Amino acid sequence: MRPTADLLRLTYMPDRPSGHVAYVALGSNLGDRAAILQGTIDDLRGEEGVEVDCVSGIRRTKPVGGPPNQDDYLNAVVRLRTKLGPFELLDLLQDIEQRFARRRLERWGPRTLDLDLLLYDDAVLNTERLTVPHPRMHERRFVLEPLCDVAPDTVHPVLRRTARELLEDLP
Ligand code: ATP
Ligand code: MG
Ligand code: MG
Repeated sequence: MRPTADLLRLTYMPDRPSGHVAYVALGSNLGDRAAILQGTIDDLRGEEGVEVDCVSGIRRTKPVGGPPNQDDYLNAVVRLRTKLGPFELLDLLQDIEQRFARRRLERWGPRTLDLDLLLYDDAVLNTERLTVPHPRMHERRFVLEPLCDVAPDTVHPVLRRTARELLEDLP
């Protein structure tokens, strides 16, 4: 996997300023959810090599799967412009998850913060650590609705459908 990742870093020219467009899904269903989403956006804004281009509306959704009696989620999607490669961006997203996860109140409970990389340019990656486009994004209303706020015409590079079409395709 390592050689592939290094090759991808080269291919994606990580030193190109603001060269890449990425969409990230934010979800929180534990703690002060609105503050956690806002804090995440603030943290992303503070990162070198990342510009927060656009933020969707925040939606309240019922948890899908997982243990019973969980609180609702707050979900949003942001569009980033970044010079980070996809693996570096995943590193950053996981670092930010950890910052908020430290405030977790109970073990094995619901999530303070989930950050999923939905799309990264037109990249199609299938590695142990990272799959892009996110493999379940097209099945999830709580992802597609906020994605349509910020980029209804963006095209899923594998399914060749726009975000709006994917949303319309949902049962
Ligand atoms: P789901 O992926 O169904 O939304 P989840 O977000 O709850 O589930 P996590 O526990 O947040 O899953 O992530 C598990 C692993 O998924 C992470 O360790 C990460 O390496 C991997 N992963 C693969 N592709 C992606 C992606 N596109 N965005 C974020 N994480 C990813
Ligand atoms: Mg997720
Ligand atoms: Mg995740």
